[in-house]
Amino acid sequence: MSNYKIAVVPGDGIGNEIVPEGLRVIEAVAKKHKFSITTEEFGWGAGYYLENGKFLPDDGLETLKNFDAVYFGSVGLPAVDDTLPAKDYTFKVRTNFNQYVNYRPVRTYPGVTRPLRSDKHIDFVIVRENTEGEFVQVGSQYLPDSENGMGIDSSIFTRKGIERVAHYAFKLARTRRHKVTHITKSNTLINSLSYWDRVIGEVAAQYPDVEHQQMYIDNSTAMFVLKPEQFDVVLTTNLFGDILSDLGGAIMGSLGLGGSGNINPEKEYPSMFEPIHGSAPDIAGQNIANPYGQIWSAAIMLEHLGETEAANSIMEAIDKATTQGVLTVDLGGNAKTKDVADAVIANL
Ligand code: ATP
Repeated sequence: MSNYKIAVVPGDGIGNEIVPEGLRVIEAVAKKHKFSITTEEFGWGAGYYLENGKFLPDDGLETLKNFDAVYFGSVGLPAVDDTLPAKDYTFKVRTNFNQYVNYRPVRTYPGVTRPLRSDKHIDFVIVRENTEGEFVQVGSQYLPDSENGMGIDSSIFTRKGIERVAHYAFKLARTRRHKVTHITKSNTLINSLSYWDRVIGEVAAQYPDVEHQQMYIDNSTAMFVLKPEQFDVVLTTNLFGDILSDLGGAIMGSLGLGGSGNINPEKEYPSMFEPIHGSAPDIAGQNIANPYGQIWSAAIMLEHLGETEAANSIMEAIDKATTQGVLTVDLGGNAKTKDVADAVIANL
C-alpha cells in the first residue's frame, strides 16, 4: 500500500478553515482507494511572522524537502505588510523547489450559475510560468521620498525558463484537445516578450500535432469572457497568469472554485497545491468560505502523486455535490464550509 507524506500549511485567514476540510476529503478518498497518507502540520505564514519576524523558520525549506507534497491554504493578514507573503513564503517555495509550472484549471461546475451569458462547456488549463518573468523582484526604488523618486522592476525571461514551461504545456495539450494558446504582449514589450514568443515558437515546432495560437493579453481577457470555450491549454507569463487565473475563477462562478498546483514536473522537490485565491480576511472565521477550490487542489495533488483514480473520484464527488445544490454563500447558496466537505465525502 502506497503511503504519501504530506506537509500541511494552512497559513492564515480562511486557509485555517478550508485546509482541514480538504484534508478530511483526502483521508476519505485514501480509504476508498487503499493508500495512506501521513500528514504533519506547520503553522507558518503571516500569523507566524507577527510572532517570529519570519514567515517560516530558517530550516523550513529543508523540512519541507522531506515530504512528497505540500498542501497549502494561503498566507497574508491585514496587519502584515502585503508585499511580504509572496516574497517570504510563496515565491520562496516556488523558486527554491523549482516549481516552474503553475497549473490552474478552469472548468464548468454543474449546478453553479456563472456570470457569462453563454452556457457552453468550459474546460481549459492555465499553465503559468511560475519562477521568473515579471515576478523576479529584481529592481529598486531610488530616492522614493523626493520629487525625483523612482521605482524600477525588471522582468527576466530566460531560454531555459521558457523552454521548460513550454514543453510542459505542449505535452499537456497532447493529453487533452491538442491546442496551446500562448499569451503575450510582444507588440509593446519588444525585448522580453518577443523573446518569449520566439522560444515558444521553437518549442511549438517540435509538436506539429498540437495547434499553436498566439494571443495578446488584452485580447485574451476579452476572449475569456466572450469565447472561453476556444481554450485548451493557455500558456502564460507569471504576471499575466496571476491575473488571468482570477478571471478564470470568476468565469467559473467564484474565486473560491479554483484549485491549483505549483509543480516541479521532474519531482526533484515536493510540489505545492493551493487554491487560486488569497486568505480572504473579510470572511475569515465565519465558516462560510467556499472550500471547493481547496478540495480540487487535493485532487490535483493526488493526480501528481500518481493516484489518478482517487483524483477522479474527488472530481466526481464535487460535481455531484454542486449538482445537489451544496453551494456556499459566494455561489448563492447557504451551505457552510463543513457542509461542502461532508457532501463531497458522502458522495465518495
Ligand atoms: P491576495 O492578495 O492573497 O489575493 P485578497 O484579499 O486580495 O488576497 P482574496 O483573498 O483572493 O484576495 O479575496 C478576494 C475576494 O474573494 C474577497 O472578497 C474574498 O472574500 C473572496 N474569496 C476569496 N476566496 C474565497 C472563498 N474560498 N470563498 C468565498 N469567497 C472567497
